[in-house]
Amino acid sequence: MFSITDEPTRVALEIATAADEMAREIQSSMAVLKTTKPDLSPVTVADYAVQALAAHKLAEHFPGEGLVAEETSEQLAASADVLEAVTDFVGRRVVGARAADIIDWIDRGAGAGTKGRAYWVLDPIDGTKGYLRGGQYAVALARIEAGQVRLGVLGCPNLGDDCRPTMGRGRLVVAVRGQGAWQGAPDASDTFEPVRASLQNDPRQARLLRSFEAGHTNVGQIDALARALQIEAEPVLMDSQAKCAVLAAGHAEIMVRLLSPDRPDYREKIWDQAAGSIIIEEAGGRVTDIHGKALDFRTGRRLENNQGVVATNGLLHEKVLAALAEIV
Ligand code: AMP
Ligand code: MG
Repeated sequence: MFSITDEPTRVALEIATAADEMAREIQSSMAVLKTTKPDLSPVTVADYAVQALAAHKLAEHFPGEGLVAEETSEQLAASADVLEAVTDFVGRRVVGARAADIIDWIDRGAGAGTKGRAYWVLDPIDGTKGYLRGGQYAVALARIEAGQVRLGVLGCPNLGDDCRPTMGRGRLVVAVRGQGAWQGAPDASDTFEPVRASLQNDPRQARLLRSFEAGHTNVGQIDALARALQIEAEPVLMDSQAKCAVLAAGHAEIMVRLLSPDRPDYREKIWDQAAGSIIIEEAGGRVTDIHGKALDFRTGRRLENNQGVVATNGLLHEKVLAALAEIV
């Protein structure tokens, strides 16, 4: 039975439910204004609004604890219409919030983590391209203590019941190190149920979770992996760390992030991995890099000591690593 026993978990769930509600509200208001970051990826009103709200709430409850979050205010300060919309949506939840506060709150996420202290990691809208397409996306919040992810929350506003990989009413998933992983309604209104990874140990029956966006990975190598493992099951295509919730809940067995051919020096961002990895591990799965090394969250904003990511239900992990060693 899941019960919230500590303040970080309570606050993280509160933030995720508010963020989920705000992201839906922005989407249905047709106010999904967006701008483009220097790396050409899109960023929307929702990305900024969720980061501002979360940063504000975290500072209120945990003053002195750092935040490592994806967005910066650089583009925002230059797009008046986006800033106005963000200020409006955040202002509905934080009375009196002004544009200058929004910029200030967003920039609290610019750090690299507070050494020796607990800090928070946030991807306000993971899978922004999915959000824009009306597909899957996730609000991903995690807490790192002593260099290890100790708490992870994924708000997945479009995920199916029981974290099935279909468009649905949404799921909220939470994991606490050593205490398991649970899922509940997106507004945390019902009881949380335990989340368990699948017990499939035949690679031919393994369902592979794949990115919707080909540019985020190495499609050729993933195809080669599927052939090497003689996978017969249909793959599951979707955006964001919602994939981690699907794997954790036993609706898929394998997820890999490989280096895309055009970005061989890419290193995973911690906000793309922190919440999803603890949820998979606490559900009985396993997460490493493509060489089998544990993810090392002590290296700042990126996983400098790791290459790619391999996540499985645990039972298939060694087989996937062995196959990848021949491919990558
Ligand atoms: P997904 O929704 O699984 O396709 O992953 C989305 C995440 O992929 C985004 O949050 C980006 O941070 C990340 N990403 C963007 N470009 C790349 C790349 N070239 N290689 C790996 N990940 C990337
Ligand atoms: Mg992301």
